[in-house]
Amino acid sequence: MKVIFAKMQKVYNFNAGPAMLPVEVMQKAQDEFLNYKNSGMSIMEVSHRGKHFEEVLNSADKNLRNLLSIPENYSVAFFPGGATFQFSAVPMNLIAKEEHGDYSLTGVWSVKAFQEAKKLGYGANCIFDGKEIQYSRIPKITEENISKDSKYLFITSNNTIYGSCYKKIPDVSSVPMIADMTSDLLSRKIDVSKFAYIFAGAQKNIGPSGLTVGIIRNDLLEMKKGPVPVLLDFKQYFGSKSLYNTPPTFSIYIANLVFEWCLQKGGLEVIEKENDAKAELLYTYLENSNLYTLPIEKNSRSNMNVVFHLKDKSLEKKFIDESELLGLHGLAGHRDAGGMRASIYNAMPIKGVETLIEFLKTFEEKNA
Ligand code: PMP
Repeated sequence: MKVIFAKMQKVYNFNAGPAMLPVEVMQKAQDEFLNYKNSGMSIMEVSHRGKHFEEVLNSADKNLRNLLSIPENYSVAFFPGGATFQFSAVPMNLIAKEEHGDYSLTGVWSVKAFQEAKKLGYGANCIFDGKEIQYSRIPKITEENISKDSKYLFITSNNTIYGSCYKKIPDVSSVPMIADMTSDLLSRKIDVSKFAYIFAGAQKNIGPSGLTVGIIRNDLLEMKKGPVPVLLDFKQYFGSKSLYNTPPTFSIYIANLVFEWCLQKGGLEVIEKENDAKAELLYTYLENSNLYTLPIEKNSRSNMNVVFHLKDKSLEKKFIDESELLGLHGLAGHRDAGGMRASIYNAMPIKGVETLIEFLKTFEEKNA
């Protein structure tokens, strides 16, 4: 089978994150790398309080607001460190130790968030636990599911490992809704005003790992009831406009190039349509195949992480070896979920999905 790669691309990278970034973004970063806007310096070398980085930061804030239509009463911050930090930050900033938040446990990441809150001594109440059904579906959460005196609802909008997502965001307004959107922020349109706090590690649809985007409704900045480490303190960090200390400047610069790329494509409406088309193509093929199975219920399937299994598990190694040889990289599933996973984030061109389907067909013909 002939594999045709896009300009500069050596493989189609289906890794779950760090993941594929748009070629155009990396090209621009490369062009500007040694001499940023005639400063004679790399953007990595300029002061985080100087004019060049100030422009990058302001532009990143403006572009993200524009992409997501973020309302005026929300603030944006770019945190150093991974999304995992936010599992601690959420209870620390929002509740007292004797209070509790509700958690919907739809996969590894929500379980980690839940356990972290408990470990730190906060109340964490499970309102849905998908463990017994191998996290194969997403619950429908309504006001009735919220527990008495709960102070927030925590969801993971897209489950990177099991490949499920909330197709419809829960309609809950009696408590602040917090969403870990690490693996789907910027992949589809969302109504930010439904959420009190959104966070997302950058390494899927935004930029390099080790950077986390936070979008908060301003009234939440006043909820802290105890001491919080300064870099996780919402009031301080959002208040400093991501400049409390030296932020991850290069990662923020790349994130902003990605935001610009998204805007140039026509924004999230266009991106969402492309993502729907890519996922539809792949799921339709998999649904009709005799060799592959889909573990996630149809109306809970993620458009970002397509998880599938081979009926004959003994073929898994062969599948991975052969796909790698053809330049289809990173298809092995997560160790917790098993099987295969094709992560098809915004930067994955439809050609990459078509090439994958061609391989799936050939492999099926040879092995079914
Ligand atoms: N939440 C989700 C949904 C994730 O997919 C990940 C990482 N893949 C995390 C949280 C943790 O992110 P980080 O590694 O940046 O801490």
